[in-house]
Amino acid sequence: MKARIVTLPGDGVGPEVTAAAVAVLQAVAAHYAHDFSFDEQLIGGAAIDATGEPLPAATLAACKNADALLLGAVGGPKWSDPNAPVRPEQGLLGLRAALGVYANLRPLTVHPALASLSPLKNEKLHNVDVLFVRELTGGAYFGAKTRTADTATDECKYTVAEVERVTRRAFELARGRRQHVTSVDKANVLETSRLWRSTVIRVAAEYPDVKLEHQLVDSMAMLLLTQPNRYDVVVTENLFGDILTDEAAALAGSLGLLPSASLGEGRKGLYEPIHGSAPDIAGKGVANPVGTILSVALLLRHSLQLEAEAQAVEAAVDHVLQHGPHSRDIGGDAGTDAVRDAVLAALNDHA
Ligand code: ATP
Ligand code: MG
Repeated sequence: MKARIVTLPGDGVGPEVTAAAVAVLQAVAAHYAHDFSFDEQLIGGAAIDATGEPLPAATLAACKNADALLLGAVGGPKWSDPNAPVRPEQGLLGLRAALGVYANLRPLTVHPALASLSPLKNEKLHNVDVLFVRELTGGAYFGAKTRTADTATDECKYTVAEVERVTRRAFELARGRRQHVTSVDKANVLETSRLWRSTVIRVAAEYPDVKLEHQLVDSMAMLLLTQPNRYDVVVTENLFGDILTDEAAALAGSLGLLPSASLGEGRKGLYEPIHGSAPDIAGKGVANPVGTILSVALLLRHSLQLEAEAQAVEAAVDHVLQHGPHSRDIGGDAGTDAVRDAVLAALNDHA
């Protein structure tokens, strides 16, 4: 198949991990005879340096025309002056808003070979396979804000339509997994959570084959640590999802391992590792590319509908996590290129 992929390497380790992931996409294209075109565009601090803006018009135009977007990371100390007129993060927020990507998917698995890196060192880590679906465009992050000298407010607002669309996405995804959705809210206290819960219950009636469970967010924070292998798809609002997915990421052993997808209507999506620009290791060739390579698997699955290719990439990463080489963040001494080459070799053997 033909696909136009825009790459947005960004800042810090972004260009290093993006290059490794593009090499994997090129190998997939060659192996399965697909015609992928790559168009590299500026975003974040790199875009500010080159054009003065974190999301140049040319970047946005290219993204609107693409089938899928692969992003590295944005931000870093060079652009972190709080008085600066523009900041790298505005580029990413602006892009998400322009694309209308309201569902942020973060799969969490704990590889058996890396279980010793996880803060949970016991049988609870066996078979952890959770897909978080975080609402990305509503809630307190986008509500009205007020501030006087001694008082501040953040409005948290959700509409039924906003809850419905992300809930549907979660139930659709559960159908392809273990048919279990856990909806997380704070319905004993918050009105938005009561709207959330009643809407989820109504949408769930359209999916009688999927089991629905509700958890309060405080309880869920605990359950993720005590029974992480009980969960399949977890759907929640923006702020709760932000917090719970960082907690979940800690279970995997390293930030460098985990991918994400941000989806809206249609197939186009924005794919990126969950880690940031990691300025402390940028430019040294030691960043773990696995989170970005697994983001490529999500891109193949969700935007291009190439499930066999997605699974081949995941199997290749699995092989490398099992047998090495491992990068420094997971206890090895391999550089980014060595991990990339090992994934490419495993892909050749498995695909
Ligand atoms: P942001 O504010 O952009 O989300 P952050 O504050 O969450 O960033 P990161 O940039 O993700 O921080 O880095 C946190 C720590 O994890 C750093 O020590 C960094 O070196 C490490 N780290 C992040 N990504 C990777 C990676 N791909 N490989 C190895 N280490 C990583
Ligand atoms: Mg962070």
